[in-house]
Amino acid sequence: MTFHAKFSGYADPALHAAGLYIGGKWQSGSGITVLDPSTGNLLAEVADASIEDAQRAVDAADAAAAGWRATPARQRSEILRRWYQLMTQHAEELATLIVLENGKALADARGEVAYAAEFFRWYAEEATRIPGEFRHTPSGSHNILVDHEPIGIAVLITPWNFPAAMATRKIGPALAAGCTVILKPASETPLTAYAMARLGEEAGVPPGVVNVLTTSNPGGITNAMLADPRVRKLSFTGSTGVGRVLLAEAAKSVVSCSMELGGNAPFIVFDDADLEAALDGAMIAKMRNAGEACTAANRFYVQAGIHDAFVAGLTARMKSLKLGPGYDPETQCGPMITQNAVRKIDRLVSEALAAGARATTGGKPLTENGYFYPPTVLENVPVNASIAREEIFGPVAPVYKFESDDEAIRLANNTEYGLAAYIYSRDLKRAMKVGKRIETGMLGINRGLMSDPAAPFGGVKQSGLGREGGVTGILEFMEPKYFAVDY
Ligand code: NAD
Repeated sequence: MTFHAKFSGYADPALHAAGLYIGGKWQSGSGITVLDPSTGNLLAEVADASIEDAQRAVDAADAAAAGWRATPARQRSEILRRWYQLMTQHAEELATLIVLENGKALADARGEVAYAAEFFRWYAEEATRIPGEFRHTPSGSHNILVDHEPIGIAVLITPWNFPAAMATRKIGPALAAGCTVILKPASETPLTAYAMARLGEEAGVPPGVVNVLTTSNPGGITNAMLADPRVRKLSFTGSTGVGRVLLAEAAKSVVSCSMELGGNAPFIVFDDADLEAALDGAMIAKMRNAGEACTAANRFYVQAGIHDAFVAGLTARMKSLKLGPGYDPETQCGPMITQNAVRKIDRLVSEALAAGARATTGGKPLTENGYFYPPTVLENVPVNASIAREEIFGPVAPVYKFESDDEAIRLANNTEYGLAAYIYSRDLKRAMKVGKRIETGMLGINRGLMSDPAAPFGGVKQSGLGREGGVTGILEFMEPKYFAVDY
């Protein structure tokens, strides 16, 4: 890995690794450039794994598998706990790395590191509580015993928007379950993943239990790993489009898949909502990570009686946000990850404006250096605009007016996605009744933030398969084994 001058000014290069991490060894290399999204300047260059490297990673994960599986749960737990402590100790360096390579505001990056570390703490606890079952057959003549075994080698693929948390949300349960893993982080944000692997090494993760590969050929490398019969699990977080491709690939060897895919979250505000609370929640649900979150509120449905006040309040708050590089402590909204991301947002907003929407603030990309798009509020957006169907993944809040509860439910469900939804109402009974009819894996009621390592995170419809976190998250990395017992 090559470091550039700007980099060392912000983070301690000693914390970072020297390339691919396979079988407990660091293999230096180059080929993948990491850019600072605030300027477009080069930050670092990291190794580009070949298919042979991926095969060596599977070999390493396989060589470590039996030992890790046999390691007592208490010991696995303690290693994860130490990893949590090390992440907490190094929180500021990790946050700085995230800010540099992802661009998000420092406060968001600090929040992410704390959230990410909590997955290790939670799964350190869950490692010692792996469930089993003992039942009687209905006839009463036999017993049913159900054990849970580690599923085998797991390939973990993560996106760039939460470079630390998306990795720990997978590594935590996999290691707690007794699996060995190969992590492939997004090539936009590899530095955080390598830094965390270093901390894992220090925490006592044995060689080969966690391997990390960056590559410019994610399809080729993943397909090669999925074709290896030793790989039994694919845990993917990313876009629905890539998720579909990977599900088809995994089908060839019938590899178990957990999929955390895209979202298109509705944020419903009823007339009886507490306006200030709804605005606070809207800002969190929309602007965490400058809108680059799968749970980000993508469509604001606001009832007619509160609509104008909500638009005015949201516009004032969005307008007041300070845009800038994430590493400026004053920044509240950082750059987008790439120029392409800005182009996509620009297309969605331009199409909405052409179809009759009005921008009450923002509405045009900035022309300065870096990949910036300003906080934007759109009103009068047609409900069938492309911005209502596609993930915006940026700081744009389209607002739609509705009249009745049934209309809000119909609009909210009018999407192929079903990851997150939000409802604001002072009437909890109404919110629960509406919530039950929303097709979603997660629902915030009078809350704009739902992520919690102790809760099951995941979506329905084309937002994914399976859940991460919570008490069931560990089972995604285990197979039940049934013993029919006669004694
Ligand atoms: P992406 O799908 O482009 O990439 C995700 C990862 O997949 C990256 O590591 C990428 O290198 C890799 N990848 C790309 N093509 C691949 C292929 N053919 N084979 C194997 N790997 C491949 O997504 P992104 O742009 O990095 O992330 C944004 C998306 O992730 C959004 O859609 C967002 O909603 C989603 N996301 C979902 C969750 C969730 O928990 N549901 C969380 C965060 C992000």
